[in-house]
Amino acid sequence: MTNTRTGRLAGRTALVTGAGSGIGRESAHRFAAEGANVVVADRDEVGSEETVGSILAAGGSAFAVRVDVTVGREVEEAVAEAERRFGALHVLFNNAGIFPGADSSPVDTPEDVWDTVIDVNLKGVFLGCKYGIPALLRAGGGSIINTASFVAVVGAATSQIAYTASKGGVLAMTREIAVEYARRGIRANALCPGPVNTPLLEELLADPAARERRMVHVPMGRLAEASEVARAALFLASEDAAYVNGATFMVDGGITAAYVTPE
Ligand code: NAD
Repeated sequence: MTNTRTGRLAGRTALVTGAGSGIGRESAHRFAAEGANVVVADRDEVGSEETVGSILAAGGSAFAVRVDVTVGREVEEAVAEAERRFGALHVLFNNAGIFPGADSSPVDTPEDVWDTVIDVNLKGVFLGCKYGIPALLRAGGGSIINTASFVAVVGAATSQIAYTASKGGVLAMTREIAVEYARRGIRANALCPGPVNTPLLEELLADPAARERRMVHVPMGRLAEASEVARAALFLASEDAAYVNGATFMVDGGITAAYVTPE
């Protein structure tokens, strides 16, 4: 990874939540390699420091801020710190999310698990927008990327009801933001990955039967790598996507296009 101050995000500042692991980390790397100053926001300080360390080692610009995306004042402070350090915020990537094993069918999912998933996956994105949008407006506009999922648009009998509901909420919220702020220079898009090879899916995919049950529906027959999703995030963050707004941006290997998958 080489940093270039003439890259596609040169002179831009990007705040990435969940950047201590997986898709967020790979996106932070990619944004920095394209010249962005990156605010690595995560509740996992060790993971964040690893992300920042590799960005700095490659000649990029980044710092870590400990944020629990469910706590408004922490999100507000992270945005303020981004502006203090780098002058302005241009890209807001609301990506932190959880997928607990106890999230199951509507009948079996405990209420506290429902509440926690909605809090992180949905309220966390709301809070990112609540405190991030004023900063993007101060910068004269920018790009919001909210991580939803392919399950925001197709249902699965392998149930994860709170997660699915949270991602549907992210998708709907993103569309409304896209419409409301379009004339003030903000684009907002929902990034909808298929299954990705990250720690989030470890618990699920450790079971070979569950893995096979999922994989049979993926036309490409493999998981995405986080770096592949990060490249889509970079596109949405950059001016390459200047007229892409309010999109349900699928990065799912063709899952939502499939009726019957190849043998
Ligand atoms: P991951 O577990 O590798 O990374 C998630 C990061 O979010 C972790 O670093 C974690 O510490 C952080 N996080 C969790 N709760 C937080 C909180 N309250 N405050 C701050 N940070 C918090 O997972 P990933 O696969 O990279 O997931 C990133 C996003 O992509 C999530 O929104 C997830 O729902 C979504 N997604 C993942 C997949 C997949 O198959 N992995 C598929 C579709 C969508």
